Amino acid sequence: MWTRTYLSIGTNMGNRVGNLKQALGLLNRRPEIRLMDVSSLYETAPVGGVAQANFLNLAVALETRLSAKELLNWLHVIEQSLHRRRLIHWGPRTIDLDIVMYGRSCFNNVTLKVPHPEMGNRRFVLVPMTEVAVKGDRERIEELLKITPDREWINQRLVKKEVAEWIKKK
Ligand code: ADP
Ligand code: MG
Repeated sequence: MWTRTYLSIGTNMGNRVGNLKQALGLLNRRPEIRLMDVSSLYETAPVGGVAQANFLNLAVALETRLSAKELLNWLHVIEQSLHRRRLIHWGPRTIDLDIVMYGRSCFNNVTLKVPHPEMGNRRFVLVPMTEVAVKGDRERIEELLKITPDREWINQRLVKKEVAEWIKKK
């Protein structure tokens, strides 16, 4: 069974576009993952009060035969291979891959909270997601965008079509 899943990916260290391309390439490497859609690329303000560079963010829609836990493990492998170090909570990172939604499933463990508990408080998660969410999911995201308290700026840097060109066929 293939489960429709949405990821939010962010980076604010090193070659940010290179980091995103590598992360998408590694995601696509698993036969149990099919990339369905990618959003535009956005530059966004860092959250959490730590002084740091701006982020680049995008959203990905995929279908996967992995369980949510297995997918999370693969996301951690990708983060490690991009040399992510967990130094400062909410600090700078070469790559951050979060599961925003995994089908209609809900998890609330220490290691896995889905739907992502912060999605409604982050325009940098919601805005890209409106571009990749399918009917049913999209309405829900648009509702959250209407009521989000987040007022941070988010600027489109590349249109969706340009980002889609990064994804090579398997
Ligand atoms: P954050 O994404 O909140 O900035 P991290 O990327 O360092 O912070 O994640 C810390 C932990 O959050 C991870 O080790 C992971 O187990 C846990 N986590 C809980 N829910 C999720 C989720 N939906 N997607 C990704 N990681 C999650
Ligand atoms: Mg994370």
